[in-house]
Amino acid sequence: MDLKSLIRDIPDFPKPGILFRDITTLLRDAQGLKYTIDLFTQKCVDAGMTADFVVGMESRGFIFGTPLAYQLGAGFIPVRKKGKLPAEIYAIEYALEYGTDTLEVHQDALQPGSRVLIADDLIATGGTAAATAELIQKVGCELVGFAFIIELQELQGRKKLPDLPIVTLLEY
Ligand code: IMP
Repeated sequence: MDLKSLIRDIPDFPKPGILFRDITTLLRDAQGLKYTIDLFTQKCVDAGMTADFVVGMESRGFIFGTPLAYQLGAGFIPVRKKGKLPAEIYAIEYALEYGTDTLEVHQDALQPGSRVLIADDLIATGGTAAATAELIQKVGCELVGFAFIIELQELQGRKKLPDLPIVTLLEY
């Protein structure tokens, strides 16, 4: 299936000069959605990514991370933007192009020794995934790898990540 044909390109969003890869058109296509989740799962299995938990980043990481966790027989843990999680949290601040952002995870969601796979819709500069990896490793979890639907190769985000298996479905 030609998944790229289901992804819509929006020029100048959210800022002038940025070509936004819009996955909502893929999500609304029943066959495309099923094919994507099945392929995502298969590639993770083929890469030897067995995990106790899939960690997904707000908000599109929730959309792809949860069905991936379901299919892998793992639990799902959300990593959220600042101030959204109700219980005690661990936080990590990371650099954006201008300024910083903060990601948070529930303290009791992760235990030392848990095997964790990080999943998101897209890797661009790698800042989000690298910060999430740091957060997870700080609590002593074993990171088994990363899974992204889309990789924007030009931005070389994977160079920011620890040396672990990375699954991607589509490269631009
Ligand atoms: P990074 O931290 O620069 O790798 O950016 C990745 C994060 O930004 C992911 O959580 C994506 O959901 C989001 N993102 C960046 N560019 C796009 C895009 O073109 N389409 C969809 N999401 C994007």
